[in-house]
Parts: sequence; structure tokens; C-alpha cells
Amino acid sequence: MERLQKVIAQAGIASRRKAEELIVDGRVTVNGQLIRELGTKVTPNKDKVEVDGVPIDREEPVYYMLYKPTGVISSVSDDKGRKVVTDFFDHEHRLFPVGRLDYDTSGLLLLTNDGEFANQLMHPKYKITKLYVAKVQGVPSRDKLRQLEKGIVLEDGKTAPAKVKFVSGNTKNGTSIIEISIHEGRNRQVRRMFEAIGHPVLKLKREMYGFLTLKGLNPGEARTLRPHEVKQLR
Ligand code: URA
Repeated sequence: MERLQKVIAQAGIASRRKAEELIVDGRVTVNGQLIRELGTKVTPNKDKVEVDGVPIDREEPVYYMLYKPTGVISSVSDDKGRKVVTDFFDHEHRLFPVGRLDYDTSGLLLLTNDGEFANQLMHPKYKITKLYVAKVQGVPSRDKLRQLEKGIVLEDGKTAPAKVKFVSGNTKNGTSIIEISIHEGRNRQVRRMFEAIGHPVLKLKREMYGFLTLKGLNPGEARTLRPHEVKQLR
């Protein structure tokens, strides 16, 4: 027997917290009976769990990559009514993003309805490398970039070693373009790393997620992942 919210989350319908909301909001039935109690235990694959009348185990898993534009929230809904990443898809599937990019960050974001796949990729032990291109204020010295490479102490601890490549500097308008690869996924990590060396990020884009690139996509466009890509990510 497992807690109802856990079973819903594992089916990839929603996060654990969102699953609790679905239950409290009266959108979940077990064997045809409306359940609003968070402690309810069910037997997966035996008890029939439905959300909004749809059995939770009925959905085919789907996997997409989106070229997220700036000005979009990496979430499935926003209480301030701002655009969210799932707005780029029809609502046939209950998609959710694998991790997040900031509102002001553009780039490659995966979306799926496969909760286990998403949890796997987001687990720190998987160490998936993400490549970002940052436009930063000023022209950082070689020494400052070395600090980023070695790991830098942020308020939530020291960052793991990163790969950093100076692409170009514009001394006229005082900005630089720098590529940085990290495998951690802390909140606003790249922005905080550059802030810590005194070169705040002006623009940020995620170019790669593991071996995946944005090739062929424009901002706001998405494509399904090919089966071999999904397999390779697992
Ligand atoms: N690091 C950031 O600072 N922002 C992102 O959106 C992703 C990584």
C-alpha cells in the first residue's frame, strides 16, 4: 500500500505537492469514490486511481525538447497568469518540465509526462552536463574564470568544477560572451556564479542538455525526442 499522492506523482501526473492539491481539490477518485484525505493508502495497479476522470496509468509516455524563449515560466501554471512552458503544447498530455530555466533564461528544456524519467534526470547522481552561453558585464580576467572552473563558494555551498570558455570580449561596451558547462542544477546557479566573481549575467541561454542541442529549433518551437535519444539519456 502506498500513499495516494505518491502514486499520482510516480505516474508522472504531477509533483508530490501538486498531487496533494489535486486530492484536496476533489479531483481524484479511487475505485470510483471521491477521496479528499491526504493519508489515503492505495495499492498501485490494483486500485483504480483517476484524476479528473482519467485513469492515471492510461497515458503513453511522451518526451519533448522545447526552445524556451525568455519571458516564460518553467512551470505548468502561474498564479499571475504569465506564459508557462506547457502553453507551447496542446493539452492532450499532462506535461511537466524536467527541472527549470529562469523566466529570463532561454534555451533547451525537456518536458515529459514520465515522472520517473524526470526524477532520474534531475537526480544529482546523474550529473548531466548543461552548457550555457552567458553574456556578462565586463571582461573577466583569466583568474576569475579559473575560480569558476575550480568551484566557487555560494551561500548554498561550493560549486562543483565547471568547464569555462571565454568566447569574446567587447571592451567598447564592456561585455563578454562566455560558455560554461555545469552538471549541478541549483537555483539560478550560473547567474549566482558570475555574480560572485563580479560579472553579473546580462543574458543567459542553455545551448545543450547532455548530448542534446537546439539544432533546427527557433525560440518557442519544440520537437519530440527520438527513441534513441530517450534511451541514451536514461
Ligand atoms: N542557471 C541560472 O542561473 N539560470 C538558469 O535558468 C539556469 C541555470
